[in-house]
Amino acid sequence: MRLILVGPPGAGKGTQAEFVAAHFDIPKISTGDIFRSNVSGGTELGKLAKKFMDAGDLVPDEVTNAMVRSRLGEPDAAGGFLLDGFPRNVSQAYELDSILGDLGTQLDVVVELDVDNDEVVRRLSGRRICGKCGHIWHVEFDPPSVPEICDKCGGQLYHRDDDYPETVRHRLDVYTLQTAPLTEFYRSRNQLTQLDALGPVEDVTERAIATIEAFTASPDAAAVDE
Ligand code: AMP
Repeated sequence: MRLILVGPPGAGKGTQAEFVAAHFDIPKISTGDIFRSNVSGGTELGKLAKKFMDAGDLVPDEVTNAMVRSRLGEPDAAGGFLLDGFPRNVSQAYELDSILGDLGTQLDVVVELDVDNDEVVRRLSGRRICGKCGHIWHVEFDPPSVPEICDKCGGQLYHRDDDYPETVRHRLDVYTLQTAPLTEFYRSRNQLTQLDALGPVEDVTERAIATIEAFTASPDAAAVDE
């Protein structure tokens, strides 16, 4: 299974990516996570990415594309993967075609998570992430039993620098301008399916798995054509 999750910041991509990837037993490859671990590790890549990330802008394509090409070439991705946060614009989508062509493989499905902007702002402002295991919590919708401490591993939770309201608004603009056109791109190739990302996390996961299974069993019947 080779799939992409797309959706605005706050659509629950990271959370759903974790569960959907576990269900299909494939690695979740999140460009945001890779950048964040480079930032916290103080690498050259992290230093370069940080200024774009803090501003809510996209890291330049050459940098991101090279990172994804190298990650998709690793052995654990040979049997399938779930991409979370890549591609983020049409030019990255063409680069992904080229990477997959070089690897002799292709995409099975692109899943778009639908959620409206007000909900996105509510979700992001309450989001807290475990600094140790990366699990995503929410102060209102999915709080840990002890505030600021991860139930799964005991790690300290943090609030992402780019989850503060001003940057969230800018990230939404970047999404609308640069990333949303991807849905048209994949729809025109009959590779897109969509689902309503509102509701409890487990319900959305179930819906996502059912949508992906229906699509991959019969892409023509399940494709979204608007
Ligand atoms: P995310 O965790 O997916 O919301 O990504 C956090 C930040 O990492 C984004 O706001 C960008 O600055 C950067 N980033 C993640 N994925 C990409 C990508 N595919 N292209 C460019 N920048 C990215």
